[in-house]
Amino acid sequence: MNSALRDKYEVVIGIECHVQLATKTKLFCGCDNDSRDSEPNIHVCQVCLGLPGTLPVLNQRAVELALRLGQVLNATYPENYHTKFDRKNYFYPDLPKGYQITQFDEPVVGPGWVEFPLDGETVRIGITRAHLEEDAGKLTHPEGAAYSLVDLNRAGTPLLEIVSEPDIRSAAQAKAYAQELHNLVRYAGVSDANLYYGNMRFDVNVSVRLVGATELGIRSETKNLNSFKAIERVVEYETRRQIVLVDGGERVKQETRGWNDDKQETYSMRSKEDADEYRYFPEPDLPPMVITRAMVAQQNDGMKETPNSLRIKLNEAGMPSNESEVLISDPSAARIWEEVFKLEPKYARFAFTWLIGDALKLAETSKMSLSESGISESSLAYVSTMVGEGKLSSTNGKNLLAVLWQEGIGLGANKPSLEEGLKRIEAIAEKHGLLQQSDEGELAKIVDEVIAANTQAVKDYKAGNQRAFGALVGQAMKATAGKGNPPVINKLLRERLDS
Ligand SMILES: [Zn+2]
Repeated sequence: MNSALRDKYEVVIGIECHVQLATKTKLFCGCDNDSRDSEPNIHVCQVCLGLPGTLPVLNQRAVELALRLGQVLNATYPENYHTKFDRKNYFYPDLPKGYQITQFDEPVVGPGWVEFPLDGETVRIGITRAHLEEDAGKLTHPEGAAYSLVDLNRAGTPLLEIVSEPDIRSAAQAKAYAQELHNLVRYAGVSDANLYYGNMRFDVNVSVRLVGATELGIRSETKNLNSFKAIERVVEYETRRQIVLVDGGERVKQETRGWNDDKQETYSMRSKEDADEYRYFPEPDLPPMVITRAMVAQQNDGMKETPNSLRIKLNEAGMPSNESEVLISDPSAARIWEEVFKLEPKYARFAFTWLIGDALKLAETSKMSLSESGISESSLAYVSTMVGEGKLSSTNGKNLLAVLWQEGIGLGANKPSLEEGLKRIEAIAEKHGLLQQSDEGELAKIVDEVIAANTQAVKDYKAGNQRAFGALVGQAMKATAGKGNPPVINKLLRERLDS
């Protein structure tokens, strides 16, 4: 598409995001909420199977987690806020009751906003609402079979649907917004937000209009995306498709679309239902709820950090802002970095670099997450300190952390003092031959030997050949098996040769 045509139009994007809440049990019954590796139809009961005569009982924890997320979405609550559940009626084989319990006009979370940095600017996206609802079951269609299979383990699991305002204006913003929501739900501790398992799924609404127009164009909704890249691609694809249609004088159909990742294109699934086709009405089996300010305030407890408060800290600590996003997207790594920073602020840069590089590689090769690895904030702080003080080269600092990771050596629940911890880590480094040799007396002996054995290089250096000096440093490093402290070796050589 030529840029003149592209520039004639503005793209308007809104995103709906379904988050599976991290409760122990389902939204309206006592069945297990986590069935990702279970046999089909194990975690079911009369309630989530929708058997006649059964009644739903609301899971209090789901409401608490919704209020908690409301806090990070900057939602405000009037005193005695009224919220209720409604029935959304439709028939589908994965929905045994013939209706879904959701919230229509009085959602548990009202208007709010999300703010995040993008390309050096702060972007603010309005949040329309977030409401609680139960998930449906799962259908599979075995290839070539004349039947489909229904698994109701997922039926009745608690979802929070977060609806944004149509404030998003580009594919990059759409992707960054989705990433920030992913950060927020994990920092608030309301969901595992595992994209692979579909714990967080995105529906992306896209429409286009002439630049300067105030009325919204007709939108398409592409459903069930579970990667940030797919969100970006969907926006790019739909923008192009719709501009070509509209500019050619055709109408965009209001419809639900899917994303074909192999072909990198969206495809039509069905025409979009209007709200009145669902015949919403208040759920008669659940009483309405009144949310007090005290209930909301209670959910603030223990909420230590948000992605934005961490961004400020990382910036103040002088960490590079583009790489900071890598650390922020991993809350457990970010927590460890903060603790290291508290213990040893001047050496936290080594920890930062390790956490966004080697730690991710180690997690991948060992199939073990950072939090499972036994690397604690104190062990990382001690290793950072040793690197900062020249007891370890930064390469051997990384090697030492790899040893701690692979051998699962933690420092135990009773955190030792800095001195005691350092001693223990040093002993491990020594055992593996990783300690840097900084002792001037010992290194001086080696330097003297190197000078005696390399008379030609010494002559060359004294004649002004700087490369000969590098060769001498190399010889000395070799003699220490790579463990000599390079600045000390440099200093000793210069003292002897320049005098
Ligand atoms: Zn159940």
